[in-house]
Amino acid sequence: MEVTIKEICDNIKLAREMSMLGNYESAQVYYEGTIQMLNRFIFTLNEPLRKNKWQQVQRKIVDEYDHVKEISNTLLTFTLDTNIDLPFGRKVTRDEPVKDISEYNSIVDTDPDVWPAPIPAEHGFSNRNGPTKAKSQNSSRRSDSKTKTISRVASSNQTRKLEPIRRNNRKDVERPSSSKGEKVDLGKFEKEIREVEAVDKPEQEEEKKFECHGMERDLVDVLERDIVQKNPNIKWDDIADLAEAKRLLEEAVVLPMWMPDYFKGIRRPWKGVLMVGPPGTGKTMLAKAVATECGTTFFNVSSSTLTSKYRGESEKMVRLLFEMARFYAPSTIFIDEIDSLCSRRGSESEHEASRRVKSELLVQMDGITANNDEPGKVVMVLAATNFPWDIDEALRRRLEKRIYIPLPTQEGREALLKINLREVKLDPDVNIPAIARHLDGYSGADITNVCRDASMMSMRRKIYGLRPDQIRQLPKEELDLPVTRRDFEEAIVKNNKSVSREDLDKYDKWMNEFGSS
Ligand code: ADP
Repeated sequence: MEVTIKEICDNIKLAREMSMLGNYESAQVYYEGTIQMLNRFIFTLNEPLRKNKWQQVQRKIVDEYDHVKEISNTLLTFTLDTNIDLPFGRKVTRDEPVKDISEYNSIVDTDPDVWPAPIPAEHGFSNRNGPTKAKSQNSSRRSDSKTKTISRVASSNQTRKLEPIRRNNRKDVERPSSSKGEKVDLGKFEKEIREVEAVDKPEQEEEKKFECHGMERDLVDVLERDIVQKNPNIKWDDIADLAEAKRLLEEAVVLPMWMPDYFKGIRRPWKGVLMVGPPGTGKTMLAKAVATECGTTFFNVSSSTLTSKYRGESEKMVRLLFEMARFYAPSTIFIDEIDSLCSRRGSESEHEASRRVKSELLVQMDGITANNDEPGKVVMVLAATNFPWDIDEALRRRLEKRIYIPLPTQEGREALLKINLREVKLDPDVNIPAIARHLDGYSGADITNVCRDASMMSMRRKIYGLRPDQIRQLPKEELDLPVTRRDFEEAIVKNNKSVSREDLDKYDKWMNEFGSS
């Protein structure tokens, strides 16, 4: 069936409308539908320029969709296990997560004194005070902070705009009071929201800011905007399996940050740690977890970005990156796709740029060792590659610790399936261990794709052949059916594993020669 541009527009309009109304579940269905339509549409295009433009559109839509999923997931963490005290002595008793914002609003909308649920602050703020350290969920310092900020949807525009409303002390909060002059108390629910806000929100107290002047100011701005990740918020427990990798990273990166005095002299931390393994096995997640668990400032760099995006300024960028990391120490610098610094692919000039960036990187990594003796100033370099054999000797020598991140085991695959399927209903005929056995050889990312596909099979069947207006009229319950064994079977047939036996042999061989554990 041919897809028309109008159908795509209608669908995305609906997806956005649903998001603006806070009906995130339906919005997600429409986003999925739009992405599928775009896939089919792009497939029919032959002209490269046009195809490219539409691919860009699709990427934007995928970003929006991810954003909506994020909001929806955050909402699911707000558990209304409380007896919410409504004014006039009324109570709402719930012990389930809030599904979407309208659900919470429907509880509180009955009374004008109760404020609508705030949107998590992450979506409304940019950190203007420079990078913040990655913090664990329960940072008590933050919840003590005097000034609280709540964000609220301020515009019905398609682009979500959030209006920050500053509130000083809780006592001073000006809120609409009820006709009887009673105070509104959302009790534990409000506290939970404040805690979530506190995690995503920059510290209120003035933070030190990396200063520099002239031309470099622009580069520092780019680094702060693109490279510094404020709160990766991935914990060890979010990562399935990989117990050995977690242990090694803990020893190589986390402990030296916690006990800098012990890791001195012969026990000095490794100059750099390299994670090697097939794509989609969780290397980036591990790096983020390291930053979260250590509470370090996290610099997330991809080497291809360094060599291509800032042409001509790349070495300066690397120098500033390390200067900033030292300034905001303790820091973790994560360099993804580090092999691309050594690769000989592309034009001569591209190769030249990579070579210069690599030389600067080597100099900076050597510098780290001297600086890491200063207490509290530890900077760790963590790198990842899917192509370790492309890394030359000079760089390999600096990446002293080399850890293999393997494909998931049976146990890991089961855990991955459970993590991925947390939010969907499962039919009783779904047997997780049996599916995990079928997925032998699949990477974590492959398994995520299978789950995503399986969870949408019933919706696809339902909307197949329907017009957008008919799709719109489908009740939510008809789309949100439990995922069945058949859905998984179809999804597995559609999604092949991405790593071949030959690739695995290559990793084995390289690790035997250069690996350490
Ligand atoms: P890599 O950096 O090795 O290419 P990523 O860390 O980017 O892989 O993982 C890609 C995606 O695969 C993640 O976003 C996650 O959904 C999934 N994934 C892979 N491995 C794991 C794992 N061990 N635990 C949980 N999710 C995983």
